[in-house]
Amino acid sequence: MKVFLNYNLVYMNQEMSPLNDKEEVKRLKIQLELEKEHIEQLEKLLNHDPDTGLLQKHVLIQRMRRFIKQKPMGFAYAIIRLDRSYQRIKYTRDRMKVLLYVTSERIKEIVGEKNLYQSDRSDEFLIILPGITNKEKIKRIITRITQKIKEYHNPPASDITFGCHVGVAVFPDHAQQLEDLQINTEIALGIYEHKREQGFIYSPEIGEIYHQKEALESILLKCVQQGFQGFHLVYQPIVNSQNKILGCEALLRWDAPGHGAVPPTQFIPMAEHSGSIHFLGHWVLYHAMNQVKTWRHEMGMDIFVSINVSPIQLESQKFVGIVRDILESLELPGEAIHLEVTESSVMEEPDMIIDKLKQLQSLGIRIMLDDFGTGYSSLSYLNQFPIDTLKIPKEFIDDFPNNPQSMDMVRAILSLARNFGFNTLAEGVELKEQFDSLIAEGCKYIQGFLFSRPIDATDLEELFQKQKSETQPEP
Ligand code: C2E
Ligand code: CA
Repeated sequence: MKVFLNYNLVYMNQEMSPLNDKEEVKRLKIQLELEKEHIEQLEKLLNHDPDTGLLQKHVLIQRMRRFIKQKPMGFAYAIIRLDRSYQRIKYTRDRMKVLLYVTSERIKEIVGEKNLYQSDRSDEFLIILPGITNKEKIKRIITRITQKIKEYHNPPASDITFGCHVGVAVFPDHAQQLEDLQINTEIALGIYEHKREQGFIYSPEIGEIYHQKEALESILLKCVQQGFQGFHLVYQPIVNSQNKILGCEALLRWDAPGHGAVPPTQFIPMAEHSGSIHFLGHWVLYHAMNQVKTWRHEMGMDIFVSINVSPIQLESQKFVGIVRDILESLELPGEAIHLEVTESSVMEEPDMIIDKLKQLQSLGIRIMLDDFGTGYSSLSYLNQFPIDTLKIPKEFIDDFPNNPQSMDMVRAILSLARNFGFNTLAEGVELKEQFDSLIAEGCKYIQGFLFSRPIDATDLEELFQKQKSETQPEP
């Protein structure tokens, strides 16, 4: 006898024994139960994620397709992507599974088991909120989820915390088709992830920003490929307590064809996103180093140029070699170069970065920690970092010295730098009062509009010449 089982359907091919045979019926029932169990297990395997036990994305897609077809009600669809601190966790695979599982349980508490799904990516969850289209309500739910995810974990992972970015789009408000809904949710997620904000809800304005950004990003890529079209460097002087120019920071400018000047805060993240920052960064290194070589030769002054390094450049295996090659080809001493690295980029892979920074220092290059105090720094690591100078960001200088909080912050950074043996540079200094107080508090270098805005190489050369003639004794 054969049993063909298709979910609830059983066909029995009866060539044989009479069904009134009780034993045979019992045997068949048992077999049927076993087959059912088998199918349930198979279904579980096919539809559930083995690590989190959550239903997988394709089940959600089917469910959303049904909702959209039958239009019984609107719903919100959200992607929850764990942030970079999650990627940085160095745990065994089993422990990572536990973290993921615990995170999924936390989200489940808020949205319910059947509304949470595992994405194709292991660091991503998907949720559906059936019947919920009110933006305020959605925001409240998402805020609860993001807060819950951030909570510390139990031992042995009690020192671990990570956050997430969220993108949401609503049916039918933001899209009538499933594919558009998915794209718009990705757009909302992408825009906010890019800004390093949590997120969340799609809007036509966000869609517009995204499409403009996409267009500009492709122009940027083309300009980089076509010989760095529209790019040039400007230089902002760095002075000491006597207003003597010791060096300058190289700052990149881009005139995009058809768009005009695009601020670096806008195009640098785009270049990082597309990967063209490697080429652009290389171009900046060469041109800034070549410029400082010219100044040093022409004026016989030991000027330095400080160059911003993107975290993406620093991550590259080739970075140290590139810098070394340019130094050698220009026959430039390392001390003519300062490299500015951000706090977050050094904290991302501390051991690997410490090694690279040490190699750069061995070439005579000085390392500056940019925007110190705005990111996450572990003091224990800071002590080990081969850093020469801490840059105090403009946002702490803005209300200094009149706001007591800014005063405390600046004093704390200056005292920390003293204890660790770092130099300090305050940037964004616009007022004489700020300059005087910073010098009085022991800050070594000053940069800001008070002395000069970022200017072209030729204008800075004039300032150098002026300074030189002022310091030279009368014949
Ligand atoms: P950053 O490294 O913090 O650079 C300092 C920014 O503060 C510059 O803005 C400078 O023009 C501005 N600034 C300096 N002093 C003052 C002041 O007194 N008042 C005001 N209001 N602003 C002041 P900019 O040139 O727009 O650059 C913005 C950011 O773009 C830079 O911030 C840096 O992170 C990035 N960037 C610029 N050039 C490069 C580059 O070649 N490579 C990389 N990776 N990033 C760059
Ligand atoms: Ca900088």
